[in-house]
Amino acid sequence: MRHINIPIFIPHLGCPNACVFCNQKKISGSVGYDFEDVESEIERALSTTSSEDEIELAFFGGSFTGIDRGEMLRLLALAKGYMLSGRIGGIRLSTRPDYIDPEITAILREYGVMTVELGIQSMSDAVLRASGRGHSAADSEKACAMLVDAGISVVGQMMIGLPASTASDEVETAERICRMGCSASRIYPTAVFAGTELEAMVHRREYIPLTLEDAVERSAAALEVFLSHGVKCIRIGLCEGKQLHDEDGIVAGISHSAVGELAMSCVMRNRIFTALDLYESKALIGKTLVITVGQGMTSRTAGQKRCNKDAIRNKYHVNNIKIVENTDVLGYNIKIDVF
Ligand code: SF4
Repeated sequence: MRHINIPIFIPHLGCPNACVFCNQKKISGSVGYDFEDVESEIERALSTTSSEDEIELAFFGGSFTGIDRGEMLRLLALAKGYMLSGRIGGIRLSTRPDYIDPEITAILREYGVMTVELGIQSMSDAVLRASGRGHSAADSEKACAMLVDAGISVVGQMMIGLPASTASDEVETAERICRMGCSASRIYPTAVFAGTELEAMVHRREYIPLTLEDAVERSAAALEVFLSHGVKCIRIGLCEGKQLHDEDGIVAGISHSAVGELAMSCVMRNRIFTALDLYESKALIGKTLVITVGQGMTSRTAGQKRCNKDAIRNKYHVNNIKIVENTDVLGYNIKIDVF
């Protein structure tokens, strides 16, 4: 069964906030919104699906529960109609933590919203302030509690490399996303878009954009937290699209197409290092390592251009490294035999 999201982008509607990194038009690839087009967009997307598919309608792009109330109810009623007719299986939407309250939560339940993606971004108030988010970590705590209590799944979205953020702030944010009951997560390394306050901060030397190496290592550290808590990470990095590379797209920061795969590969390398560090120094010199990984994990384990293999060879001076797959090994688990 395929899981399909039908994304409907509602960019910046109703959002009075000024997050320093935000250029919704570029992130969503959408410049406006017309209710009349939504139904035809849904129909077009549904025509490419089969009855076997698990289909969710997803209102992404802005702060859905902060838009004009009548417009929000109109969109939810449309989505609920599709759900009652059995043509979609669920509704999800993205919003800000401070746009969730008991009344909104009751509305979301009434219209059958199953998942809310919450832009938590950081659980450090200092980072939230420096990023102009306009909400606090306590707002995220409260929103998660309300949604989870109402039986609505929460996807915690967090960012890497926000102004004033450190690697340990990000690990703490990932830990708290898990503890707050989120069932899944997304990790977004900060990109600097043209025309944003963040770009001005770069010019004023108040913000240094992430290097790819930092983005990968810090995303991997957050991913490791989610893996260790069994919280699925459904995406690392923005969805690739032409709009990210326009002249007014990303002007500094990292390539989002590569960062997810590199972070996953970094997790594998870190896990191998942790396992090999248990051996006495020099015990591995000249040995052969057989690293058993799950299905489809070989290239992620070897790393891009075999960089993980090279790093293992350089650090432990082993003679040979073989990576084998075994269906009994799940996820990011590894087993290492030394010969
Ligand atoms: S809350 Fe921030 S990131 Fe979201 S649409 Fe508003 S300004 Fe942009």
